[in-house]
Amino acid sequence: MRRNGRNGQDGQATQGGVWQYSPAPEAREIVKLQPRYGLFINGEFVEPRSGRYFETINPATEEVLAEVAYADAADVDRAVQAARHAYEQVWSKLPGKERAKYLFRIARILQERSREFAVLESLDGGKPIRESRDVDLPLAAAHFFYHAGWADKLEYAFPGRTPRPLGVAGQIIPWNFPLLMAAWKVAPALACGNTVVLKPAETTPLTALLLCEVFQQAELPPGVVNIIPGDGQTGAWLVQHPDLDKIAFTGSTEVGRLIQKAVAGTRKRLTLELGGKAANVIFEDAAIDQAIEGIVNGIYFNQGHVCCAGSRLLVQESIADLVIRKLRRRIQLLRVGDPLDKNTDVGAINSLPQLRKIERLVEIGVQEGAELYQCDCTLPNKGYWYRPTVLTRVSTAHTVAREEIFGPVLSVLTFRTPDEAAQIANNTRYGLSAGVWTNKGSKYLEFASRVRAGVVWCNTYNKFDPASPFGGYKESGFGREGGVHGLAAYVAF
Ligand code: ADP
Repeated sequence: MRRNGRNGQDGQATQGGVWQYSPAPEAREIVKLQPRYGLFINGEFVEPRSGRYFETINPATEEVLAEVAYADAADVDRAVQAARHAYEQVWSKLPGKERAKYLFRIARILQERSREFAVLESLDGGKPIRESRDVDLPLAAAHFFYHAGWADKLEYAFPGRTPRPLGVAGQIIPWNFPLLMAAWKVAPALACGNTVVLKPAETTPLTALLLCEVFQQAELPPGVVNIIPGDGQTGAWLVQHPDLDKIAFTGSTEVGRLIQKAVAGTRKRLTLELGGKAANVIFEDAAIDQAIEGIVNGIYFNQGHVCCAGSRLLVQESIADLVIRKLRRRIQLLRVGDPLDKNTDVGAINSLPQLRKIERLVEIGVQEGAELYQCDCTLPNKGYWYRPTVLTRVSTAHTVAREEIFGPVLSVLTFRTPDEAAQIANNTRYGLSAGVWTNKGSKYLEFASRVRAGVVWCNTYNKFDPASPFGGYKESGFGREGGVHGLAAYVAF
């Protein structure tokens, strides 16, 4: 560690006059990028019938990483047929303990190749390596391990009932946790005896394609998982395919609505995990420094690119000035920059349209009367970046308190009583997650029971476990992922 600035050895400008770490970039050589990736259908990479390819870029540098095959309606059909064939001929006939072996193998290979996956995730998505290495990869492997354990015990998960697989599942995932979302979708489906056609997001297809190599290494029977990159239109073709038994979607509420309409009146089962506008509530009796760390973890690490991000801070009026002062100091210390640097806290924004959306919403926030405070760090010249931002003097009517921003932007509101805190926390069309900080057990239990959110974290934030169900209320969707509840979404009785 060295100290820059006036007292530093090299006399460079400092970031807020604070201690700086020397760069510690993770080597990217471990990732062997191919110039072109095909579709993964029936156990192998194939050329798309569409004949089309699209580029995927590194949002931190705008460098083109690879060309990726685009699946059109004919490709979707080919993938669904492969999944149907594998379901009928192989996967649905395997006993649970055999399915479990494949899931265990996939989990172990993911662990063995975790550094490679983490680097690729950070390259393609812009998230800090610390996040992809310490969160995305361990959780993705844990998901396969957890569901491997269930595959031969489903009758214990649903005592007295006889769970059967649904058939072929079409799954669509977003760009914020590309590999982890693939694991969340694929592992329970396979554990329960279903086969899968999965469409990754258009800006982050590479780790899902690397996962296909893992399936090959694990000798997963061909057609059990098929991965078809493409855009929203590819997703729409998949949803409309008549030979699917289940659709699982994670993404925006707008697209979730379209999917629900498309699926209405068909035999397809549906689960939707959509947007959020979580309240992170600090009561005056909270351990404030610990809470500040939790708030920072809840919104700034990962660029606010999480649907459960604690994007609304509700702080009790008596401590509001203190909390805001500490928060401003803390965001000055955030290290924004190269996602592959192990010291980086905040990486790149995933895409240019996402960056523009964040800029637009913050502008609206300021026009509506919010006070803007941003980290004055130096941003890289290339790529898509946004400064960690705090908006104070926000009220529930403000756009920034209602709309999902999906960026490193925290809107601060104040409250006086626990009643008012619960009321403001619930004053949203979403209901995915919430956080509460207090040293009184009774207070957080009371708050958790009143807040309509799928997850409520107490004195912590953004903690996940495969055994714990995750999902929303209201416009955050329905159905749960993880735990026994998550298994229920992939079986019929
Ligand atoms: P986000 O705002 O997080 O990008 P989207 O809902 O736009 O969320 O995208 C999430 C996933 O849904 C992506 O894989 C995207 O390609 C896909 N998608 C977008 N539009 C549609 C659609 N009309 N039907 C099905 N999938 C879609």
